[in-house]
Amino acid sequence: MSEILLEVKDLKKYFKVKNGMLHAVDGLSFKIEKGKTLGMVGESGCGKSTSGRAILRLHEPTSGEVLFEGRDLAKLNKEEMRDMRKELQIIFQDPFASLNPRRTVSEIIADPLNLHKVYKTKEEVHSKVLELMETVGLAERLVNAYPHELDGGRRQRIGIARALALDPKFIVCDEPVSALDVSIQAQILNLLKQLQKDRQLTYIFITHDLSVVNYFADDILVMYLGKMVEKASSEKLFEKPMHPYTKALLSAIPIPSIHNRPKRILLKGEISSPINPKPGCRFAARCESAKDECFNKSPEFLEIEPEHFVACHLYK
Ligand code: SF4
Repeated sequence: MSEILLEVKDLKKYFKVKNGMLHAVDGLSFKIEKGKTLGMVGESGCGKSTSGRAILRLHEPTSGEVLFEGRDLAKLNKEEMRDMRKELQIIFQDPFASLNPRRTVSEIIADPLNLHKVYKTKEEVHSKVLELMETVGLAERLVNAYPHELDGGRRQRIGIARALALDPKFIVCDEPVSALDVSIQAQILNLLKQLQKDRQLTYIFITHDLSVVNYFADDILVMYLGKMVEKASSEKLFEKPMHPYTKALLSAIPIPSIHNRPKRILLKGEISSPINPKPGCRFAARCESAKDECFNKSPEFLEIEPEHFVACHLYK
């Protein structure tokens, strides 16, 4: 039987800004089975990265629950959360910005091991660092190199080694290949896939690029201005997208065939403000199918077909 590793219930993260409250994440709910990947997609500003950080409590959630192996992370005290951090890691988008330029590869990867006092001697830490470097495909000769001496792919491999150091069960991959050249992206994606297989890792994979997430995720959650708009298995979502926003995102993916190419749906209209949002569907101002109801009433996130959820008044 499948085992649920992470369950998120009605998670909200609001930020106080000059003109009111910015609803960055507004009622996120989902479950992820152990060893699976949930892809989280949407344009920048849709709340996907904030969601990842709120789940890990890098941003304190405004409300809601995050149950990891049944334990609510929000209820853990500082010390319990510190212990829990071993299980929950993050890989950042820009490996260069997330690595301290004054520290060597070895020092960066050893940081979590030293912080959590995993080993007693320097030799033990060093040998674990070499093991992690080998796992992520970094040559041993780079052990004393600095991040600026390495290319983007190698820098991201350092970020991955650091995330793996404490043997976590769950990793938020926050746009891990967006800053890399296309030729390097596939190598890093393959590495993440292999690690998942070898270590039964569970991922949230955050990206704006649906073609990447199709290859990588078991399920996909589409977000728009802090709200969930559609969720289904990767296969179903690509085969039969339902929400007008998902359809527009999919139509923008470049495909090699000049025949069967779906017509590109260009989104017009202004993006609504996530600050003190008005009632109604947040996508209404850009949606070609919008009707009166869409501007007054928020659509519920409903299971329209088995395991296929949509928030849209077109489906009741
Ligand atoms: Fe478009 Fe209305 Fe559906 Fe929103 S609820 S996506 S505005 S049809």
